[in-house]
Amino acid sequence: MDFIPSYVKLLHNGELRIRAETAYKNLASCTSCPRDCEANRIKGEYGICTSGYLPVISSYTPHFGEEPVLSGTRGAGNIFFGNCNLKCIYCQNYEISQNPLSEKKNEVTHERLAEIMIELQNKNCHNIGLVSPTHFSATILKSIYLASQKGLELPIIYNTNGYDSVDMLKLYDGIIDIYLPDFKYGNSVFAKKYSLVDNYFEKAKEAIKEMFRQVGDKPVYNKGVIVRGMIIRHLILPNDLSGTKKVFQFIAEELSPDVHISLMSQYYPTNKTYKDILINRSIFNSEYEKALELLDRYGLQNGWIQEMESSGTYRPEFNNDRINPFKN
Ligand code: SF4
Repeated sequence: MDFIPSYVKLLHNGELRIRAETAYKNLASCTSCPRDCEANRIKGEYGICTSGYLPVISSYTPHFGEEPVLSGTRGAGNIFFGNCNLKCIYCQNYEISQNPLSEKKNEVTHERLAEIMIELQNKNCHNIGLVSPTHFSATILKSIYLASQKGLELPIIYNTNGYDSVDMLKLYDGIIDIYLPDFKYGNSVFAKKYSLVDNYFEKAKEAIKEMFRQVGDKPVYNKGVIVRGMIIRHLILPNDLSGTKKVFQFIAEELSPDVHISLMSQYYPTNKTYKDILINRSIFNSEYEKALELLDRYGLQNGWIQEMESSGTYRPEFNNDRINPFKN
């Protein structure tokens, strides 16, 4: 039998509408992420993410570059949101994440976002992938509600940088079937320096614990593709700026060694990395090997490991092709 996503049940009992309304109210004094700006986004104020109340869609497409269990054979139905609540100096998607004036033209109504979800379903994608949804988390639920009324029945992936509000995540409980958080740093000092954010490690631990509480460590598969579960991504940064040991230790000891990890080696210097010598290079083989050793040391056996060559091949281009930024 085909998988029925959790939110379908919440649509029928009225809970999905209530959650969407509750989340939307947060926009009047935004605490959608741990920045807690308290900006009134409905009245046109901006917080650090420079985003209003309408979602900004930079691109949407069937995407084949996710982990194989998410892309499957028909692609993940990815929706790339513009702007971001982090300000990573090494962001590989900086054209869309750190360019608010340009992205303003990509604002869409909630109804249009719901239509996009249906379009991706009609293209036979396996799922809907919300990419960098955190700063629009208070508003996306409204579109999920509208799309589910129109027949959306794909599992939804919450593909986030990990700097999420626990209260907001609780509103997504039973709506998101697949959590795909980055766990970017095991050291908040480096997070402050390279992503301009306070307390990343502490806040990401709280958020990822909540995601784990909701979906657990045993993915559910349907015909080889994950329909429910969690994968934690960790990007190896040069000079251990990503604090890999602390990240893996937390996952193994405070979540579960059975959690699926996606270890990423694709880092390459870009954006403003020329300003800092510690981060202005790709990773060394020795750093890659060290991360593999740490996976072993903490007994993290489940997941995927990117090959070392990935830094040369995974380079999204958003300026030239908004329909399919990863086509190269
Ligand atoms: S989502 Fe944006 S406005 Fe809201 S708290 Fe985070 S950075 Fe501030």
